[in-house]
Amino acid sequence: MNILWDFDSGVSQPFQISDGGITFDLRPGQKILNVLIQNTPEHFRINLLVDEKSVKFILDQGLCVSGDGSVFRSVPVQEVEKGLLSADLSVSGGEIRVATRYPYGRDALDQLICDTYHTPHANLRLLRRSHRMVPVFDFGQDDGQKLHHYFIAGEDSWETAGSWVADEMVRILSSDAKFSSALMEKAVVHIAPLTSPYSATKSGASYTTLEGKGMYGAATWGDDSPPPEYALLREEVTQAIAKKKLGILLTIHSWQSQNESSGLETIRTSGENELTGDRLDWASKTVQALIQNVPHGKSHVAERIWHPGLARDYLLGKYNAVTFRIEVTTYNQGIDGFRQTARSLLENVARISDWSQVC
Ligand SMILES: [Zn+2]
Repeated sequence: MNILWDFDSGVSQPFQISDGGITFDLRPGQKILNVLIQNTPEHFRINLLVDEKSVKFILDQGLCVSGDGSVFRSVPVQEVEKGLLSADLSVSGGEIRVATRYPYGRDALDQLICDTYHTPHANLRLLRRSHRMVPVFDFGQDDGQKLHHYFIAGEDSWETAGSWVADEMVRILSSDAKFSSALMEKAVVHIAPLTSPYSATKSGASYTTLEGKGMYGAATWGDDSPPPEYALLREEVTQAIAKKKLGILLTIHSWQSQNESSGLETIRTSGENELTGDRLDWASKTVQALIQNVPHGKSHVAERIWHPGLARDYLLGKYNAVTFRIEVTTYNQGIDGFRQTARSLLENVARISDWSQVC
């Protein structure tokens, strides 16, 4: 057997090949595995050495496996002893991709672009500053009156389930003309499936400070100078707020299977600003409306943010704008669940008529 690395949504891991299979050592805190194994026997075993924090996440989600690289399914994993997880694989064709996240990287984004570029009412835009860029899919024409909806995934690029949701949103709006034109009568829809691709091959903090300290990219919305891809999106969003034309802004993350629900929330307070009265009622009703038919969906209005500088904290604190986040679960669901999540979220957004309380 031999192993190919270097997909852009995983990191290299130490491994050992023995008679019965392959053992990957994921213990140095790096939970991301994404490799192609070639020249395999028909049946063999994958062993994963994992730290305590990763056990439940991988057991509940399973190993993500694909024969041809286009469809990933989940294979059950057993804990055979403390810190050692195993999965038995049957392989035809001598080649199999195994991963601990449903892989989504630049390759998946390229596929999406090629599959959808011909859509008549869609526009693919490259936001670019200096040497950094982020592709954004726009649906609909701005007439100065329409709202602007933003779906922003891949802020944490290793949270690939979120990118799969955004990917499917693009596919739905590209292929379902009736549904998308109804939505686009009232709004322009902007979707960024992979906001921060530069972090794709790293497992932890996406960015480092000048001193080499890791920093949390998604929490740079409030920084004086965020990484360019965050800065570029922030400029657009704050312009939409200034014109009172922001509809929904939803950041799409994934806590993998750490939590059994897909959690959608907004926050009630940030800085000097707080939601009260009618606006708080609207926020509560809106999170409930947004989560309808989302598999494993749950929603709430949190009192405040869990980490400063995230989009909904910064936008409420500085601009008094209500924005949202979903953490997509990988518990008991894979690509089909992410697709259903995308469809339900879009249908729910289309159904909500009042966005006047956003800003
Ligand atoms: Zn995240």
